[in-house]
Amino acid sequence: MALPHWVTAFAVKTPTLPPAVATNLYLVTDGSEGVLIDAGYSDPEALRPLIDHVLERNLRITGILLTHHHPDHAAGAGYLSEHWDCPVHVHPADAEAVHKYVPGTRLAPDLREGTVHGVGGVKLVAVETPGHTPGHVSFWESNDGILFTGDAVLGAGTTWIGPPDGHLGTYLDTLRKLLTLPAQAAGPAHGPIIEDPSSRIRYYLSHRLEREEQILALLASHPRRVADLLACIYEGQIPAATRWVAERTILGHLVKLEEDGRVIRTSGSAPVKPIRNLVWTNEELERWIHHTMFSLVR
Ligand SMILES: [Zn+2]
Repeated sequence: MALPHWVTAFAVKTPTLPPAVATNLYLVTDGSEGVLIDAGYSDPEALRPLIDHVLERNLRITGILLTHHHPDHAAGAGYLSEHWDCPVHVHPADAEAVHKYVPGTRLAPDLREGTVHGVGGVKLVAVETPGHTPGHVSFWESNDGILFTGDAVLGAGTTWIGPPDGHLGTYLDTLRKLLTLPAQAAGPAHGPIIEDPSSRIRYYLSHRLEREEQILALLASHPRRVADLLACIYEGQIPAATRWVAERTILGHLVKLEEDGRVIRTSGSAPVKPIRNLVWTNEELERWIHHTMFSLVR
């Protein structure tokens, strides 16, 4: 299925997580005004085709809507908002992290559940979809049934959910919430248009639950660290450069399993305090990955 006439996708080269090499930006327009979903990286050359497209059609851009704060989505917002003289909208929970890219006067931390941004007859409704980051937002257009999913659902592969930004339990709730929307197609931030969003979302749910079962089975034989689990689950399958993603993905599962009361930490970490109160500094993360033992609650 092609996208409706009111939206144009721009795959902009960004330093994102492999295998993706680009971020999709979506320009929603009625032919005279427009809003942009996500802003790519701060790289004027990569943004040039988009800027030329807007200039050639004499479009007035009224706002930039960010799905979340990660640099391959938000870092270009400062440059573009200056260029077009428009505000940048973001969920309040991700606003602080966007401040470094966008000066305070341009940043509008007002994207909450149900916020509507309209262009002509097209209404984009913000849907809070936390999990990848605390303030991740998707956008829903109900006339054509188009969902813009940011990093919540991708066109290829799965999205990474892990500390410090990600929270798996929250993310699984988000996927179940997205299943309630009658989406005909989804525009992800990475990869091709998703033709059958609900089957992709169901695949994401089953993939996470399978991984969870695999971790529980490994812990059933004896306590293990994240690094041990990684060796069992992924060894030889992941390049060194993305090992940190795999480590934090497994840690994300263990955090959820602890919250579910199925796993406990038995040694190696600082005082055992409720996992929700933790601040994930890089040093903390290293300790969690290489020293903390996790065991099954029996
Ligand atoms: Zn992201």
